[in-house]
Amino acid sequence: MPERYTRPHHHERVQTTERMKRAWEAEADAREAVQTFNARLEQGRAIWAWPTIAAALTGRYPWLTIVCESCDGVTDLDLRMKPRPPEASIRVVLHDVKCPRCNGHGRPRIASLRENPG
Ligand SMILES: [Zn+2]
Repeated sequence: MPERYTRPHHHERVQTTERMKRAWEAEADAREAVQTFNARLEQGRAIWAWPTIAAALTGRYPWLTIVCESCDGVTDLDLRMKPRPPEASIRVVLHDVKCPRCNGHGRPRIASLRENPG
């Protein structure tokens, strides 16, 4: 009799633990991808793979720092503010950005992904 009640309960706990483990692994994996990307940008190395929106959000790097090539104005953009296809590259965001300092005169460039606004 007690087994009847404890089994489903135990099973649910195992499932929850599995889900949490998978979420943690996904987050750690995404963080690694974003950190590699940030390091390459910082070192001025070529970018062969742009992180996806999903990688930025799963890795908890939702802030995009964008620099205007014309006036060096810096814009911080929160990727969570607008729904976008998770499989799209973070570069899709550049279509939505217009430099507030020179009114979109210059080309926007992604400088980094951040955990918090810079
Ligand atoms: Zn500008």
